Amino acid sequence: MDALDAKYPFFASAREAVAEAAVSLPELVAADAPAVERARERVERALLEGTVASESGAFPGESAYDAQAELLSYPIARILVSLLDSDPAIEKYAAAEAATAMERVRRDLATDDELRSVSSATVALDDLLAEFDLAAAVRPDATAPAGSRASRGTGSGTAGGGAAGTTSGRDPDHYRIDVGPYLRLTSPEWGESWRLVNRALADGAVRVSREELLAALEAAVEERVAEGLPFELAADEGIAEALESRVADLRRLLSERTYAEPPDVVAPALFPPCMTNLIEKAERDVALSAAESFALMAFLVGIGMSPDEVVAFCADTSLDAEGIRYQTEFLTDDRGTQYPPPTCETLANYGICHNEDDHMQVAADPLSYYEKRVAAADEVTDWRDGRATDEAEEA
Ligand code: SF4
Repeated sequence: MDALDAKYPFFASAREAVAEAAVSLPELVAADAPAVERARERVERALLEGTVASESGAFPGESAYDAQAELLSYPIARILVSLLDSDPAIEKYAAAEAATAMERVRRDLATDDELRSVSSATVALDDLLAEFDLAAAVRPDATAPAGSRASRGTGSGTAGGGAAGTTSGRDPDHYRIDVGPYLRLTSPEWGESWRLVNRALADGAVRVSREELLAALEAAVEERVAEGLPFELAADEGIAEALESRVADLRRLLSERTYAEPPDVVAPALFPPCMTNLIEKAERDVALSAAESFALMAFLVGIGMSPDEVVAFCADTSLDAEGIRYQTEFLTDDRGTQYPPPTCETLANYGICHNEDDHMQVAADPLSYYEKRVAAADEVTDWRDGRATDEAEEA
């Protein structure tokens, strides 16, 4: 098991490494090996933050887990996701694995020749194309000036062979991808520019920029990760029983309930204490934990705030605009998979709720509590109205 397998555990070579290693997943789970905790972290961060990177350190090399635990955490994370048995969870998990992988790919592609030649833990674009059987379907765009980016080596040198081998020694800005794979890996829902009618199409191939090609590859990773999920576990191996409490924690955290009519009014004075505490903490410039920031973002999105509004609302806090935007967009995606805020019980488990005034008796989650307070208030001032007035005065 090497560092490259750990970094890209969905690669065929990584699967082979797991199959060849003399490790038994049921035994690892029964022994509560480090890979099990890392798998839980993998799934939790995927569902809450859209990344599977370890909080203990980003790749390459700084994770508190060794390469074996990293690699084995992937099949165990797939087991956890299967046990969750929720389509939205599978979608979010696969998307997060793909997003994290492509972050690493971008870093690998930015690695200069010299470093690359001494590191076997980086991939080249040709390696990726070969991994997804796209070597013959993707070619540098002949109309682009040759070597328009700085010339680079081909990394681990597998180079995918065939047509993609022509990319060796240069890294063009544009490529041509056969229309079949283009249609399979991209979606018109990504925006007008992705529609075939808006694309330069010649000889059965579509012209794409390098970034667009990477977006298509991200979709290929997502597809591979989601493949086969959820799967049935052998009843006699005891894995489901051994992972029961971890699965229950993940379920509680996500608490897939839906709200027909969110209260679409932003009245900070009526926010529940848990959310007020989190906002005040962030205003003191204290960093929020992943669970805290997820709970706050899910609440703000749940009351109808747009990503722009959340960014403006949190402008003078420790939360950075980019992180807010990512998380709120993740929470409000249009695929029908948005998550409501966690329940009061879950927030209590995370130390976020202190059950002030015993109001867990009043509502089971912060959003319901807020709804009740808004309904009971004589007068409600919407923060957005004040902001609109400020903007008008500034203009
Ligand atoms: S009981 Fe619920 S709404 Fe109240 S502070 Fe705790 S988590 Fe928030």
